[in-house]
Amino acid sequence: MSTATVSDRVFNFSAGPATLPLKVLQEAQEHLLCLPGVGASILEISHRSPPFEAIIGGAEADMRKLLGISDDYAVLFLQGGATTQFSMVPMNFLNKEKSADYILQGAWSKKAMGEAKKHGNVNVVWDGSSEKFSRVPRPGEFTASQGAAYLHMTSNETIEGIEFHHDPDTGEVPLVCDASSDFMHRPLDMKKFALIYAGAQKNVGPAGATVVIIRKDMLDRQVEGPFPTMLDYKKMVAGASMHNTPPVFTIYILSLVMKWLLHDIGGLDKMHQLNQKKAGLLYDFMDQSGGYYKPHAQKDSRSLMNVTWRMRDEDLEKKFIKEAKAAKLDGLKGHRDVGGLRASLYNAFPYEGVEALVGFMKEFMKNNG
Ligand SMILES: *Cc1c(COP(=O)(O)O)cnc(C)c1O
Repeated sequence: MSTATVSDRVFNFSAGPATLPLKVLQEAQEHLLCLPGVGASILEISHRSPPFEAIIGGAEADMRKLLGISDDYAVLFLQGGATTQFSMVPMNFLNKEKSADYILQGAWSKKAMGEAKKHGNVNVVWDGSSEKFSRVPRPGEFTASQGAAYLHMTSNETIEGIEFHHDPDTGEVPLVCDASSDFMHRPLDMKKFALIYAGAQKNVGPAGATVVIIRKDMLDRQVEGPFPTMLDYKKMVAGASMHNTPPVFTIYILSLVMKWLLHDIGGLDKMHQLNQKKAGLLYDFMDQSGGYYKPHAQKDSRSLMNVTWRMRDEDLEKKFIKEAKAAKLDGLKGHRDVGGLRASLYNAFPYEGVEALVGFMKEFMKNNG
């Protein structure tokens, strides 16, 4: 069997699944054969066993502590990815007699909207397409429609690299947020949100679980069913994510990531500061590059999680990606729909990796002026 060690690890800028804290991987590796005190692997025990109940309960408790989630909300670990939430949200809260507001701000919100249209009326309250999805709406640039079933936003558009740096106020209209690619990268004003969903594989764990935080009064707003059981928020809340076998391994890793956020990072304020420092280093350098590296996002919407930029021409971009990979800076190719380059700097991505990237970019610019 060939082996690889920690020193073989590259700086991994992948957009998702994405880099995880080394400490989490090491603990999982150490305990994979046998969980302490359990006598078996996390992969082999029942999801109804006390050890697993402690793991899922711990993950939820730590998430509640980190985000300040009150008892008014239920926390769920579901399957089917954020993409299933694109359907589950409108299926539960929208029908042909109702309408929902959508902010059209990039590739993922467009997909979410497409699913909603199958269930009811969709009202686009803000459209960023004429600015090539280079920013999110500014405070006050949209208003929720009176009587809308909900308003849907995407806190971070992963492909374009634009992000909300404020939590919008939608008054009486329930605010639903796809937070897949920036979940827990900063504290949230939880009371503004009625429902938040996030695929785990970008910022809080491996693929396989979708976190859903839902305000319990939303359950009273469900439209007439019937819904497939697995797509019924009421049943999922009643079953506390255990209606059927949940993705146990993903939840286990996620529980370790929560501990890392709490005890190693020291909470979401600290995490936010670190994320600002990481992305700031890269954006500042690009701003001083005389247009050699051109960030896609407008300044007030720049994502801390996915930094996107263009260069003079595609050949130069290809050369950059190839040479970066050889320098152990991997995963920098932009999404196939928009091209260019993208450095994903999620929570677990280390500051040293950004320093290494900026060092490489300086050198590349010198050699390819
Ligand atoms: C990745 C992503 C999705 C899709 O997530 P899946 O878990 O693959 O379904 C949805 N929304 C955003 C913002 C994403 O970044």
